[in-house]
Amino acid sequence: MNLNDVISDLKSLLEYERDEGVGGVAVSPEVLAGVGTGASSVVHGGAVAQSIPSQDFGSAQPAKVVPHAEQVPIADDSLSRIAAEVAACSLCPLHGTRTNTVPGQGSPNPEIVFVGEGPGADEDEQGLAFVGKAGHLLTRMIEAMGLTRDDVFICNIVKCRPPENRTPELSEMNACLPYLKRQIGLLQPKVVVALGATALTGLVEMPKGMGITRARGTWLRFAGIDLMPTFHPAYLLRNPNVKKYVWEDLQAVLRRLDKPIPEVKKR
Ligand code: SF4
Repeated sequence: MNLNDVISDLKSLLEYERDEGVGGVAVSPEVLAGVGTGASSVVHGGAVAQSIPSQDFGSAQPAKVVPHAEQVPIADDSLSRIAAEVAACSLCPLHGTRTNTVPGQGSPNPEIVFVGEGPGADEDEQGLAFVGKAGHLLTRMIEAMGLTRDDVFICNIVKCRPPENRTPELSEMNACLPYLKRQIGLLQPKVVVALGATALTGLVEMPKGMGITRARGTWLRFAGIDLMPTFHPAYLLRNPNVKKYVWEDLQAVLRRLDKPIPEVKKR
């Protein structure tokens, strides 16, 4: 990685931190000296990580963590029952502007569940999760892992589209979270992948100031399941430079599942 790549990566990450409301970033004198001399390393999570092989998903278009309370199992629960309850749900204001509910879809026996923040326009129209541009990129990410969408389960924290694609309120995520917990309880995946800052903060009570940029790549827990936070595909569409970090996170998921890591595709 040359100095321009390092600067570009740092710029993307700092912009993301700014978007998350982080007012400053602590950088050690040693790291600054490394950047100044063009060393081939990048700063992440307070550590210096070596250059990571880039993965092209295609151009389509530790801190203390307090888990949420565990979901009480419901007798005779099923994915279809949850979907039916979601379709009739009016627990939060998002029910008033939805076209279709989007409970999520995929394998009923997945090893991995991907969780995003909420449906967009395409998802609202079709009633399916991750079917727009970001969804196409998620498909490529899954395929890069040697899997297909049918091997995994894909859903969101909120099952109804927020108006104008705004970020769901914490109260809305909390109202909807029991549905996701019931889904996770039925699916019993080995790993949950949280896609983006909103999904992460909806799933795990993070310490103040620890957003997705610092948390990604770190194993956490959600509802008794290992959770890997990483960037949202929509963020990758705007910042392709961070694809390599997502690929690093997805490799960690594959290692956790004892699955082979497919060969890295060069751009
Ligand atoms: S987002 Fe969830 S809690 Fe809110 S109305 Fe839709 S299904 Fe119900």
